[in-house]
Amino acid sequence: MALLVMKFGGTSVADIDRIRNVARHVKREVDAGNQCAVVVSAMAGHTNQLVAWAKEASPLHDMREYDSIVSSGELITAGLLAIILQSMGIPARSWQGWQIPIHTDDAHGAARITDIPGQEIRSRVMAGEVATIAGFQGIGPDGRVTTLGRGGSDTSAVAIAAALQADRCDIYTDVDGVYTTDPRIVSKAQRLARISYEEMLEMASLGAKVLQTRSVELAMAYGVRLLVRSSFTAPEDCQPAGKDDLDNTGTLVCSEDEILEKQIVSGIAYAKDEAKVTLLRIADKPGVAAAVFGPLAEANINVDMIVQNVSHDGQYTDLTFTVQDGDLPRAMQVLEEAKDKIGYEELRGATDVVKISVIGVGMRSHAGVAAQMFKALAERKINIEAITTSEIKISILIDAAYEELAIRTLHSLYGLDAA
Ligand code: ASP
Ligand code: MG
Repeated sequence: MALLVMKFGGTSVADIDRIRNVARHVKREVDAGNQCAVVVSAMAGHTNQLVAWAKEASPLHDMREYDSIVSSGELITAGLLAIILQSMGIPARSWQGWQIPIHTDDAHGAARITDIPGQEIRSRVMAGEVATIAGFQGIGPDGRVTTLGRGGSDTSAVAIAAALQADRCDIYTDVDGVYTTDPRIVSKAQRLARISYEEMLEMASLGAKVLQTRSVELAMAYGVRLLVRSSFTAPEDCQPAGKDDLDNTGTLVCSEDEILEKQIVSGIAYAKDEAKVTLLRIADKPGVAAAVFGPLAEANINVDMIVQNVSHDGQYTDLTFTVQDGDLPRAMQVLEEAKDKIGYEELRGATDVVKISVIGVGMRSHAGVAAQMFKALAERKINIEAITTSEIKISILIDAAYEELAIRTLHSLYGLDAA
């Protein structure tokens, strides 16, 4: 018998038929004797509609009211699922964030969970009542409803799993797992049977948008095992937890110790929303980097990759870095305003770049992964404009025109292509 948290995203609860399908996934687990807490998102598109209405009412709105509006989508799906489960003879009740309670800080619109007491929900779930829980929401220190940021119901599910000490947290979505890269770009991309938290964090923040990044951080901190799987696989074709073959169901996001066959590279991620800023002929002396990045930080602009060249003459050098493309106009403005302080000859901005990252915990113990990568790209005449690395990741910035070629090249290079 297992205690399971099951989470269903918007497309999995898009209409009453889809919610009935969710109920059948839950029934399979209940029939096998498992105890279930089910976290749901709003029906597909509902949260967007609610956000749009709040904006239409007033572009500059009270975020506490924003939260009370946008959190409502999940209340509906939690209630509908409870009704459908009851109609199938399964004891169930819905829970809103404040009823559990899911305590958060007061950062409305992007609140963080601080604590989940949850004694009552735990004892009811242990006694066999299915809890259907509204994801994405909590209650702030002043008793007002909060939301956790877009995609936040993943984080709700992981937090509930940690609080209930669940055996597993199954994240049901519209894909059947995490892939080695985007299957729309590489048809030979493969589903990963397992991936470590660290790798998933790199994949998530780099564009493999399956899970909210925060949820993976939380899962790693509390050792919650996450199974990313499809709600579109017929419930009858799945085995209940305890009897299932984990390596053939979805992708298990887990600690490195649970991964026996470690690949050097597990996946290739990309981010199109990068922009490149270049400052030509800045003085090569102490304090210049501070003069550039200080004002950007003050303007809340995040800088990602940075390349500074060695100067030829000991006096001047060039500096290139990347920011999110949405921040580019502001970054340019901030740097223009600081021109006299920084002292540069020319400022350039470009958005026709893409960041590609190869990710794998196996890199820690293997030399030459980067060298192989640079050689393969050089053979395809792809120029690398910036590089950053971490222990388990190498990222490069290239011309956006070469995105697909670069991803395909690297996917085969590291042996990730399906047979
Ligand atoms: N419904 C919320 C959103 O669309 C939360 C979620 O689905 O995770 O952001
Ligand atoms: Mg989501």
